[in-house]
Amino acid sequence: MAYGENRVAVLGLGGTIATVPSADGTAVPALSPTELVSVVPGLAELGVTLETAEVRRLPSPSLGFADIEAVLAAARERIADGCVGVVVTQGTDSIEEVAYALDLRYDRPEPIVVTGAMRFPTEAGADGPANLLAAVSVAASPHARELGVLVTLADEIHAARYVRKTHPTSLTTFQSPDAGPLGYLVEGEPRLLGRIPARMVLPAARRATPPRVCLLQISLDDDGYLLDRIDKHVDGVVVAAFGGGNVPAALVPRLTELAETIPIVLSSRVGAGTVLATTYSYPGSAQDLLKQGLINAGFLHPLKARILLRGLLCVDADHDDIAAAFTAAGGCGNTAAWPWPQTATDALEH
Ligand code: ASP
Repeated sequence: MAYGENRVAVLGLGGTIATVPSADGTAVPALSPTELVSVVPGLAELGVTLETAEVRRLPSPSLGFADIEAVLAAARERIADGCVGVVVTQGTDSIEEVAYALDLRYDRPEPIVVTGAMRFPTEAGADGPANLLAAVSVAASPHARELGVLVTLADEIHAARYVRKTHPTSLTTFQSPDAGPLGYLVEGEPRLLGRIPARMVLPAARRATPPRVCLLQISLDDDGYLLDRIDKHVDGVVVAAFGGGNVPAALVPRLTELAETIPIVLSSRVGAGTVLATTYSYPGSAQDLLKQGLINAGFLHPLKARILLRGLLCVDADHDDIAAAFTAAGGCGNTAAWPWPQTATDALEH
């Protein structure tokens, strides 16, 4: 390990960025972060001293919350040891969830920047090296401090809470439909144009057994078959409802009953925009469901809402704290509603 003024740690989790397809047709993550950084043109000229560590070597659909805690611990260690930022390389399939889960648990000012690649390193026009170069530049930038966890691909810088994978193959798959990117890489330099409204960080988990939170997407003529089956087997549910948060009227009694025992969060399956709290009043409308005790996810995409609800249940948050946290994180009102300290580093127990 070398020491310099601007030390950045690159922590590997696997994914396409590290995958080399072979002649026999196999394609599994195979490259270590050390191998990844060794072939990036321009990286040596950045004036950044790199440290690398492989935390996992997995395709990202197989990552779990234990892996996220492991990479978070490794990132904290590197930051405590003097790194100005951390880059996490991983598969793009689950970046939108992993980055938000990290963001909810990371309270330091130094950036954690998550990146990956849409093309294998051996393919023509491989995007991994450019994404890695950009991510290291962002991680080393003083302008990226206090923004929590960022996602950098295709020369765009996104906030973890907004970013989504929107296409299975496009190089510009990562987008923030509601907020847009926070910034761009211009001539190799990170340019930040936007900020996040506030840091929203959860304390360390208190529960010994992790909660089970499921995501239930409502679809046409849904007769509640899945809803009936998840009943009593989960600690919380995120409902991805039609449009601005509406479900078939027939589901209301079951959702109402379930909301009396576990938190049910109402989100929109549309992929952008917010739950509408007052527009319609028919049975099954968002207004009706919110009156029955469902919690408004606001602008939070169902995948992000599930990450937040699980995190809240990990700290044994009660109904009022869960509702307040979603008000703040979902952009439904004052960000000060967040029940824990928002900016003070070290205010939360680790
Ligand atoms: N399936 C891959 C993964 O998420 C896709 C990627 O890395 O882009 O691991």
